[in-house]
Amino acid sequence: MTVWDWAQEVAARGGEPFRWGFTAARPGGSSTGPFRGGNLGDHVGDDPTAVAANRAGVARDLGLDPSHLLFMTQVHGASVDVVDGPRRAAPAPADAMVTARPGLALAVLVADCVPILLAAPRPGVVGVAHAGRQGLTRGVVEAVVKAMRDLGAGSIQAVVGPSVCGRCYEVPEELRRDVSQVCPLSATVSWTGTPALDIAAGVVERLVLAGVSTSWRPGCTRECDHLFSYRRSGVTGRFAGVVVLGDGPVPSADRMTS
Ligand SMILES: [Zn+2]
Repeated sequence: MTVWDWAQEVAARGGEPFRWGFTAARPGGSSTGPFRGGNLGDHVGDDPTAVAANRAGVARDLGLDPSHLLFMTQVHGASVDVVDGPRRAAPAPADAMVTARPGLALAVLVADCVPILLAAPRPGVVGVAHAGRQGLTRGVVEAVVKAMRDLGAGSIQAVVGPSVCGRCYEVPEELRRDVSQVCPLSATVSWTGTPALDIAAGVVERLVLAGVSTSWRPGCTRECDHLFSYRRSGVTGRFAGVVVLGDGPVPSADRMTS
């Protein structure tokens, strides 16, 4: 059973409908040990059989064959993969994906980094992006928006998912200074007043500057046990943000609290 933190179908008038959401780490899922719950990352040391079962559960909730649920090889860069069908080989390194094809679910994996889901109902283009500190400063937000516009996207909307919050992301002062020179709104302080970064705020800032209508989901991965957090746990799983163009089943989601 896959547990979703949040999911929604958007039926735009005169445009293509789409569905998007964020999975939760737990309860549910087939993984055990440090990956307990619905780990979707196949690069973290978890049992591949459990990961495949968890991925199949996500696809099933969307009414799709698992081959139509596409993941990336994420490397904290700004490359965008334009996809138009199921994969036949391991994906090349990329931290964003876009497609104009209905029925392909695009997934971004995170455990503190910021998952971004994007959609343009007219003419029907969707995208995902993975933004950590490096991806943000390397321009992954602008890159995925450009790739969607290259496919003809008109008005784009985005939802920014749960990630480590600024209070929980303490960094050296020099690093805060360097990042804030690129993204001023990312500079903040931790729970104890030390230098910190709010990467999601920087992502939201960049999306708005790019003309994207943006909403931001609550939830700090480090503070919420129903989400995976690398900062909290070290060895841990990954949850996903997923977007798919076209109508179909919408996962039921009960927002977890912890
Ligand atoms: Zn936090």
